[in-house]
Order: sequence, then C-alpha cells, then structure tokens
Amino acid sequence: MHEWALAEGVIKTAIEKAKEHGIKKINEIDLKIGEMQDIEMDIFKFALDELMKEYDMEAKVNIKIQKTRLRCNVCNHEWSFDEFKLSDEEKEFVHFLPESIFSYARCPKCGSQYFEIVEGRGVWIEAIRGNDD
Ligand SMILES: [Zn+2]
Repeated sequence: MHEWALAEGVIKTAIEKAKEHGIKKINEIDLKIGEMQDIEMDIFKFALDELMKEYDMEAKVNIKIQKTRLRCNVCNHEWSFDEFKLSDEEKEFVHFLPESIFSYARCPKCGSQYFEIVEGRGVWIEAIRGNDD
C-alpha cells in the first residue's frame, strides 16, 4: 500500500509549501512522477482524493510523467527508456519491477549492462497554486 504513503507525503509537502508561500487555499498541485516509479496510478489518485477530504482540501492534481534517462557507466552515453527495443511484455515487466531493466537492457552504444537510472524515479511536487485569502 505504498501508494497511500506516497499520496500522504504529497499532501503534507503541499501543505508545508503552501504555508511557506503564504497560500491559504491550495487550488492546484502539479505533480511529477518518474516513468519508472513503481506506482498503481488508480490507487494513488484514489488515495489523493480520500486524503484531501481528510485534510479538508479540494485541489486539482495535475500529474505529469517524467521520462526515464539512463547513463552508461562504461562509455557515459545517455539515453531514454524509449530508445530500448523492448517488447510490450518486457515493458510491462519493467513497469512493475523497475530493477528488471538491468536484465533486459544494454547500453545502445557499447552494449554494456553497467548503466544507471539518472532520472525517472520518484514522485515530487513541481508547483502549487492557490489563494492567499
Ligand atoms: Zn555504453
């Protein structure tokens, strides 16, 4: 049930940021989620809605997916997840188990399997908008 924990983290962070910026009522939250973040979107959205009721909030949450960037440890080449020629089945598997990318994929330039995920994991707030009265 880590979707609930993530959602609660988002709401609490949004409330803190709103306080810092003198926002009394949050109207909108821009959220970015890494493409490789292991998350059930339906549960996550449901959790956000339910938690907002608890915190007496009514904000619109805009979710954007951040593309994955990978970097080869051998030749320093950087590339995106889309450049992998993975089958649909493999893609699905990687979505549920991001670490499995290391057994399917190789650096497209030098063929090394030693690469790291530099972007595309995590959940963070990009912006919040609201009223100060
Ligand atoms: Zn390489």
